[in-house]
This record gives sequence, C-alpha cells and structure tokens, in this order.
Amino acid sequence: MDRPSLSEAQEDYLKALLLLELEEGRPASTQALAQRLGVRPPSVTEMLKKLAGLGLVQYTPYQGASLTPLGRQIALKILRHHRLLEAYLHQALGYGWEEVHQEAERLEHVISEDLEERIAEYLGHPPFDPHGDPIPTKDLTLPSSKALPLTEAPLGRARVARALAQDRGTLNLLARLGLVPGKPLRILERGEGVRVEVEGEVYLLPRALAQAVGVEPLG
Ligand SMILES: [Zn+2]
Repeated sequence: MDRPSLSEAQEDYLKALLLLELEEGRPASTQALAQRLGVRPPSVTEMLKKLAGLGLVQYTPYQGASLTPLGRQIALKILRHHRLLEAYLHQALGYGWEEVHQEAERLEHVISEDLEERIAEYLGHPPFDPHGDPIPTKDLTLPSSKALPLTEAPLGRARVARALAQDRGTLNLLARLGLVPGKPLRILERGEGVRVEVEGEVYLLPRALAQAVGVEPLG
C-alpha cells in the first residue's frame, strides 16, 4: 500500500480514531481523543485540521472526527503492526502479556512491510494477539470479535476470549487467576460481583475486574 509518510504522532492519532470508532460506533469527539492520547484538546484540534488537510480525516468542529477510507487503511496497518508485534514478543520472546503493549507502541511505527510479513509468516498468521484482540488481515480487514464482558454474559459454560483492559495491574491479576484467552470457565452467579469457576477454583470477581474479562458463551 502506498501511504504518505507520517509522523509517529500522526499515526497514533489515526490509530486512536480507529479504536474509538470501533468502541463507540460513532465519530470520535475531540475530548475523547485528548483523553486517550493524553494531550490537551487544542492540540487535538490542530492535529485534526492537519490530518484533514492530508485527506486522512473528516473533521467538523464541535462534531468530532472520523477516518476517510485512506485514513482507515493506514490506521488498520498500524494496528496490524501493533498486534502482530505483541503476538511475536509474547510467543517468540516470552514477554508477559502485560509487557507487550509498551514495546509494540514504539515498534509499530518503524517495522518494514517485509518484517511485518515475516513475523506473520513465522507466527502462522494468527487471528488474535495475546489479549485476544483481532489482528487486521494482510488485506486490512478486521475480524469481528464476539466477546461479552463477564458482567453481561449468560450463566453457564464459557471461554475467555479477550482481555477488555490494558493496564498492567489488571492484566497481571487476570493472568494469576488463569483468566487468559482460551481458558474455559463456568459462570456461577452474578450479583455485586461475578462468581466463576476456573480449573476447579471458585473466585468472586469484583465488578470492575469482571468487566475486564471478555468471554464467549459455550451454551
Ligand atoms: Zn493487544
């Protein structure tokens, strides 16, 4: 894909816009972008105007911003780099799933198309990263993910599909409890928290923690 050469910050904006669109299902507000990127709203406005000038973003003051088809392609490309790198660091180099995000944040901007392809090849073209997040395919389509938070899933048998949190503390805790993608569990009861059985152990997960566990019901 021919893409304009962008700064790391510009690529981060495109990726943040994509993730916000996926999460909220509508154009991202300046406020939401500022919060996600840890910058002040006036800087966001300035950058959005720049990206609109490059034909990557559609920006209407006070109404938020959305990606143009080209902007979306670039954002998916960066996301593919990010999630493939996470998978590679985890599977090939033994990084913990709580460590991979920081490394991938830096490397996603610099790896070549060739390295991206070789990593994908080496890993056997994985559909998901270690957090269970779908990896955009080579032709930049994003597989859908049907994970429901434990707080909303029906009682009964399920399988952990995705971590819905990013912070180290939560990821560490989930790993210690064995609540990682692929793990079968039984959802026993829902009240203040959610009671689950994982490999013969029963845990009462506080609501905030239960919200961070995405599961696929097994019927
Ligand atoms: Zn991830």
